[in-house]
Amino acid sequence: MMYLRRNEPSSRPIRRCSSVSESVSHVVTCPDNLAVGAGHNGMMTAARLRRLGIRTLIVDRTEDVGSNWSKRYERLRLHTPAFMNTFPYQDFPSTWPKYLPKSRVASFLRFYAESQDLTIWTSTTISRDTPPAYDADTQRWQVHLERSGSPIVVRPRHLVLATGWLGLPRELLHIPGRNDFRGSIFHTSRSPRGDSFAGKKVVIIGVVSFHSSRVTQRVVQLMNP
Ligand SMILES: Cc1cc2nc3c(=O)[nH]c(=O)nc-3n(C[C@H](O)[C@H](O)[C@H](O)COP(=O)(O)OP(=O)(O)OC[C@H]3O[C@@H](n4cnc5c(N)ncnc54)[C@H](O)[C@@H]3O)c2cc1C
Repeated sequence: MMYLRRNEPSSRPIRRCSSVSESVSHVVTCPDNLAVGAGHNGMMTAARLRRLGIRTLIVDRTEDVGSNWSKRYERLRLHTPAFMNTFPYQDFPSTWPKYLPKSRVASFLRFYAESQDLTIWTSTTISRDTPPAYDADTQRWQVHLERSGSPIVVRPRHLVLATGWLGLPRELLHIPGRNDFRGSIFHTSRSPRGDSFAGKKVVIIGVVSFHSSRVTQRVVQLMNP
């Protein structure tokens, strides 16, 4: 950490655009960088690169920034203290709780995007049919996007994949006899409510330290009132 602190690249002053629309059109017509994913890492990368004079277009498949958090199960909180999840250039408000509920994480992501003047296209993802290709002559990527269902091509110099690894829809394990089971089967990424297990016998397969834990705690509470 000390090494990194002493060797930070110098920041260029931010060129102020005369309007938000000028700022947006600059990024869209000549994106230096395309980041796929408007979660913590996509946003932090874009904010840091912006300080270095590199403008980023961020795309996210969800309809709203932060909905990767807000649409999860209702009792979700970060299980690590807020100071371990800080973003560069802007702290969480000091009045916020130590363990942030999902609504605060989602609202901070939206606020960060706005205050760091990040350009984000929501409802946008990389085309599955045409993977990104790098053109060595122009030294640019050619990336086919689908934005609200319409195709669009962008040619950034750099491509950052910040799609995370925990937000993907998970398939249920194939367990012999599963089709004969008469109860309900959920994966925790499908946001089951803990209350829906009240009074039932439950088997939990695999307990990750955080994702299942809130659901697990609630299930255990309800099973042992
Ligand atoms: C329920 C839950 C609880 C967690 N709790 C903690 C915690 O307490 N402390 C902690 O440090 N970490 C926690 N994590 C880990 C958390 O994932 C990371 O800290 C952080 O969110 C990672 O940020 P990220 O930007 O890499 O990925 P994400 O936050 O997952 O963001 C990825 C973004 O990419 C978008 N995306 C994905 N695929 C595509 C695509 N093909 N096209 C366009 N957009 C796409 C998604 O919509 C999403 O907005 C938790 C994760 C989950 C799921």
